[in-house]
Parts: sequence; C-alpha cells; structure tokens
Amino acid sequence: MIFTQVELAAADPILGLTDAFKADKRTDKVNLGVGIYKNEAGLTPILKSVKQAEEILLATEKSKSYLGMEGVEAYNSAVQGLLFGADHEIIKNKRALTAQAPGGTGSLRVAAEFLMRNTESKTIWVSNPTWANHQNIFKSAGLSIEQYRYYKAETHGKDFDAMVADLKMAKTGDLVLLHGCCHNPTGIDLTEAEWHVMAKLCLDNGLVPLFDFAYQGFGTGVDEDAQGLRIVASQVPELIIANSFSKNFGLYNERIGAVTVVADTESNAVKAFSQVKSTIRGNYSNPPAHGALIVSTILADAELKLLWETELTEMRERIAKMRTLFVETLKSEGVSQDFSFISSQNGMFSFSGLTKEQVAQLKDEHAVYIVGSGRISVAGMTKENMPVICKAIAAVLA
Ligand code: PMP
Repeated sequence: MIFTQVELAAADPILGLTDAFKADKRTDKVNLGVGIYKNEAGLTPILKSVKQAEEILLATEKSKSYLGMEGVEAYNSAVQGLLFGADHEIIKNKRALTAQAPGGTGSLRVAAEFLMRNTESKTIWVSNPTWANHQNIFKSAGLSIEQYRYYKAETHGKDFDAMVADLKMAKTGDLVLLHGCCHNPTGIDLTEAEWHVMAKLCLDNGLVPLFDFAYQGFGTGVDEDAQGLRIVASQVPELIIANSFSKNFGLYNERIGAVTVVADTESNAVKAFSQVKSTIRGNYSNPPAHGALIVSTILADAELKLLWETELTEMRERIAKMRTLFVETLKSEGVSQDFSFISSQNGMFSFSGLTKEQVAQLKDEHAVYIVGSGRISVAGMTKENMPVICKAIAAVLA
C-alpha cells in the first residue's frame, strides 16, 4: 500500500475557506474570502461582452483541433497590446513573446518552471505578505523563496524603504515578484516615483522582475494600471509577465491568462520562448481554446472592446463604492478605530488589520468568512450584506 503513508494536506488558506463556507448551514453566512466579483445582487454574472463574443464563436467556430503549444496567436498579440500599449518599442522590436496559459496561476507556474530549468535564476523574492498561493507555486517549480518587507502594520501602509533595503540584498540574477497593480492582499501599490526606483534597482543590481498582473483595470484603469509594468519594462532589458483575465473579464473558470517573456533582443526572446513552449509541452501540451477566443474576439472588435471597458469600469466603481460604505457602516455600528485607510486601497481586497483570533471569531460566531491574514474581499460586499458584516466586525472588536 503506498497511499497509507501519504499525509493529509493542510486546507488551502483561501479555497479551503470556500469549502468550509459551503458546508456551513447558517443562512446569513457571508463569504468574503476568495477574490470573486459580485454585483449588487450578490451574483457573479457573465459579462455581456463575453456573452456576445460567445455567440459569435458559436456561429463561426469551425474546428476543435489542437492549438499550438503557445495557444491562440491573435490572443497572444492582443495580450501584448494590453500589457505594453499598442505601439510600444518592445512590440515593434519583437522583444516580447507571449504564450497563452491556464489563468494567472498556470502562467506563473510555467514561468517559474521555465526559469528554474533554463536559467541561473533560482531564487525569487516575494513581498511579505503576498498572495497565499505564490509560495506554493514557486516551491512546486523548485525555486527558493526569499521575502522582502512591504507592509507596515502600524500605519496600515507600505514600507518602501524596507522593501528597497531588503531587495538590495538580492543577488544578481535573482527574481523579484512584483504585483503589477492591486497588490494582493494589501491593496497598496507603488507610486510612479517608487516604480522608477524599483526599475533602477533591478537594472543596477541585475534583478529580473516577474510581474504578476492579475487585476489590470481593477485599480484605476486598463492603461493606468499598467504604468508600473511599463516603467520597469522601459528600463530593464529582461522580464517576465504572468497575467490573468479571470477577474477583469470575469472568466474565472475558463482558466485564461498568459506568460510573456521580454528579452534584450529578438533572438534571445526566440530562444527563451522555445523553452517556455517546451515547459508547456511537458505540462499540459497545449492550452484550451475557449477563453482565449473570447478575449481575442472582444479585443479585436471596437464595439465589444468598448462594452468590456464599460463593464470593467462598472465593476471597479462598484467596489470603490463598497469601500466607502464599508468604512461608513463600521462607524455607524459604533466601531471607534479608524478604518479610513480602507478607502485608499486598490483592487478587490481590503487588508483590515484584524487578527487571526478575530478572523476565527468572525467565522465561528458570525458566519462571516475572511482570510486568516485579515484580508477581506470588498468585491463580495453588497448594500444588503454590509450591515451583517459590519455588525459582526463591531462585535469582535468590542
Ligand atoms: N495572482 C494574484 C495576485 C491573484 O490574486 C490571483 C487570483 N486570486 C492569481 C494570480 C491567479 O489568478 P487565476 O485565477 O487566473 O489563476
């Protein structure tokens, strides 16, 4: 018997919470764990732009034959347009090559395995804290993990000086995981000036940025959110981007993202990309088509693209409203601590500062589920569930 020796895996800090939530029999339960956008009715509907693209695909798709290892070509070039802006030097000089991959997670995993197998870059620096799955993904690929400081609990803000000081200890060739925008879990991003400092630090010390770009359009706007990436890409010759369309197209279960390799020259990009494809071949051979075809259909059609941008803006603005309402409702429920910092955080999450014990109490006594780090998915809040959430928080803070 070989399975008797297998140890039961610990529950995933985020998805394990969803399992526990599903099993909870209480009727007024609220799940603010996983980062899924909900509309005012508490639903995660398919975007209209996506539905329309699917109708086009249903009428025009002629074959379900295999894609190449790199996926849908039109999709891959559309991804580059979103990342860099259409006429970017990197695109013109063919220094970037993109492979469609299964979501942001699959893209990060392909990137990590490609780096581990083919380069001297075997250590990755991630922010403390970071998305709970980063360590898991990078460890699975065999990379060693170091942490740089990022968050200052006392101020509910960023500690940029500490971030720089820690990254100065990284060795030439080390990888630096940077959140393109809407840092998960803190919701605190670098400023334009800080991105310039980061770009110079990577350039001077030979560090290789790996961008995790899972929330483009959820911060300020599609182009605005790419500012950090574009600043770094304009100065640092080699980088990798793992992006996802789970959130901004609402294509969570289509598993659609991409890994983009930027090299100093076209020929180095071609060589690196050949190994990215080889990594894909050894993992899942070639990606599924549907999600990529939806995204490329939308981005190639001016009307559909506009509709998508309008829908994305609606999602972004609804979350911003929920942030304000959250802060106000906490106040009106009698919470005396200042939670105004929540209004200035970006993206789907609010890093509340609640302790592990308070998080457990929220779940056990009030059926309000948030991640152990104190991360709350604001994207799951509605006018309706807000009083329940804030009453519960007021009770655990009392
Ligand atoms: N990176 C970050 C920072 C994320 O928050 C997420 C999703 N929660 C991902 C990557 C992965 O996204 P996907 O669901 O597309 O794999």
